[in-house]
Amino acid sequence: MSDMKVLEYIWLDGYKPEPSLRSKIKVTKDETPPDWSFDGSSTQQAEGGSSDCLLLPVQTYDGPLFADSLVMCEVQTGEHETHVSNMRAAAAKIVTDEWWFGFEQEYFFTDEKGEPLGWENGTPRPQGDYYCGVGASNVEGREISELHLEACLEAGIELTGTNAEVALGQWEYQCFGKGIKAADDLWVSRYLLYKIAEDFGVGVNIHPKPKTGDWNGSGMHTNFSNDEMRTNGSESLYTSLCEKLGKVHDDAIISYGSDNDMRLTGLHETQSIDKFSYGISDRGASIRIPIHTVEHNWNGYLEDRRPASNADPYRIINHIVGTLS
Ligand code: MG
Repeated sequence: MSDMKVLEYIWLDGYKPEPSLRSKIKVTKDETPPDWSFDGSSTQQAEGGSSDCLLLPVQTYDGPLFADSLVMCEVQTGEHETHVSNMRAAAAKIVTDEWWFGFEQEYFFTDEKGEPLGWENGTPRPQGDYYCGVGASNVEGREISELHLEACLEAGIELTGTNAEVALGQWEYQCFGKGIKAADDLWVSRYLLYKIAEDFGVGVNIHPKPKTGDWNGSGMHTNFSNDEMRTNGSESLYTSLCEKLGKVHDDAIISYGSDNDMRLTGLHETQSIDKFSYGISDRGASIRIPIHTVEHNWNGYLEDRRPASNADPYRIINHIVGTLS
């Protein structure tokens, strides 16, 4: 048997406003994934005259598909410095494993023309039957969602649930993790979703408002807590955290994904993008204090409902942990 291992290196490119995922395969006998490099001039991360960028492995996963392992990487310049596109490095410096995150990733499956699945013959029936729906006329893309869940669990990524969402062709999964691995996991879970959908000729659209009109957009509600919030909480603690976040609302919006103004309109269970509010059980607020937290004597977590589906989880962590610690 060959002692060669197939490693799938994954990184984020230099595209704006949000980076895209890139990957390439390395075949090696090395026990641990070695540093590697790529052509940064093809990913908007370097000029052609000095094009080498470096890949530093930072998180390794069992490969649920083709490769033996998936290797999430940070990007450095050819001079071994943190690349300007590398948002992970700063987040990794400030977040510890006492910070837990649950990202609720919403997205649409799309056909080859970029239309949501189920919209091939024009606009479908209004929203109502699709959320957590069952039956051929109510749900599209379930098989891909289920394969994605299996693949993530096999890779050691803790998806805690999935559901069909409010619009036809729209889905959600919830991805839980601790510290910087939470954000690595979310990026790798996105990677697996794109890749599994490829086999079906299906695309994945994480834009926050693919369809204007009376159709839900896609968000990435971010649930978070630290030790104090989980075990030594109080109403005053939670109030002070919300107040702190409110003071830097404008910074949050910059970090929480592009085109989010199309989604945060004050309709469809959102607060307007230019307003900040928080409230118990309030899905029209920027920050929801879950009833679970209140009923457990103010020990629990908060839900930041502002991040868009296309947000970079490294930037979300930078904002939340940077503000609150
Ligand atoms: Mg949802």
